[in-house]
Amino acid sequence: MKISDKQIAQVNDRINALVTAGSFYGKKLKEAGITGISSAEEFEKLPFSEKSDLRDAYPLGLMTAPEEEIVRIHSSSGTTGLPVIIPYTAKDVDDWATMFKRCYEFAGITNKDRIQITPGYGLWTAGIGFQAGAEKLGAMVIPMGPGNTEKQLKMMVDMESTVICATSSYALLLAEEIEKRGIKDQIKLKKGVIGSERWGEKMRKRIHDELGIELYDIYGLTEIYGPGIGINCKYDTGMHIWDDFLYLEIIDPVTGKNVPDGEWGEIVITTLVKEGAPLIRYRTHDLSRIIPGECPCGSKFPRIDVIKGRTDDMMKIKGVNVFPSQIEEVIKTFPELSSEYQIRISHLEGKDTMRIYVETSGEYDFDALSKKVAESVKSRIGFTPIVKVVELGLLPRSEKKTKRVIDERYS
Ligand code: ZN
Repeated sequence: MKISDKQIAQVNDRINALVTAGSFYGKKLKEAGITGISSAEEFEKLPFSEKSDLRDAYPLGLMTAPEEEIVRIHSSSGTTGLPVIIPYTAKDVDDWATMFKRCYEFAGITNKDRIQITPGYGLWTAGIGFQAGAEKLGAMVIPMGPGNTEKQLKMMVDMESTVICATSSYALLLAEEIEKRGIKDQIKLKKGVIGSERWGEKMRKRIHDELGIELYDIYGLTEIYGPGIGINCKYDTGMHIWDDFLYLEIIDPVTGKNVPDGEWGEIVITTLVKEGAPLIRYRTHDLSRIIPGECPCGSKFPRIDVIKGRTDDMMKIKGVNVFPSQIEEVIKTFPELSSEYQIRISHLEGKDTMRIYVETSGEYDFDALSKKVAESVKSRIGFTPIVKVVELGLLPRSEKKTKRVIDERYS
């Protein structure tokens, strides 16, 4: 998937806007003597943008449109140090809602649907993105925000919500609560739009089975508008990405070179029409791949695979590179286990130790099961972890992102 001539013209327009505004990246481009590009090869030589740069631009260094045109900011929470502030113009806000409306349409959601939104509102891009797209579609929004499961379920029943928007872990929590209360026959949900968290096939299946709904994965990140820049269609062959607003590349995270379509690597995104804070070649650190060929739905929007993990989730244990997705794939092969897990890495008596906590119901022999899981993980990653089997429901589920890897070596 090469950058098109139209996209090259859009990139040049954004480079020009950045340099003219003299914003953080404008200055960088000017110093590097970059005034524009004329080919895909030249595009692939443009410097990357990194989250650490965005922090350096704190608070408003990214602002590229005149201040009187900025209508809103959003912020992504940094786990370390300063947050990133992204300014939006009215057009950016509207473009984002247009993209999000398209997401709902690809999921077959219409203005007759009632959309219950559980992601948070505020500095976060989550809740408000789901809401603006739904309003543009003309659907009825039930803007719950996160938490208060009691009230969520009451509104879900009374308002006869047909669509739930949630993180995967919160959708699972709601599914479990519905099951527990035996109110499934009062629930009118048909579809779930699930975002902002990587989730395995097993978890997806559980939510699907327990709620009996179609599930759609939404992609996005605060630095690039927010959630809603892509979604899978009903054929479920990967997420379509809106390439009239964004250009997406997949690179080798180590060499920084583009990889051929179909190969896994890191997603890099360039905003083509963003005004408030345009980004050129932003490294997302999300791992995915371009899915070659055409989707059976006939849409020409390119597709990426489900996000497999993050380049910075990579754990180096006993000198081996391990991704949480590898552990997840092993867990998936055990029908006795739930989809929840937790990995703890510690340094004991001079060596690295990996402990994996998994859940099962009381009907299985915990010791035998932990041995089997440990062997299976060893055959996958090359060394034997300590596997602890716990009772179903003991591992944390959260309304936001569930932290599944805890590295105790450096704390
Ligand atoms: Zn499709």
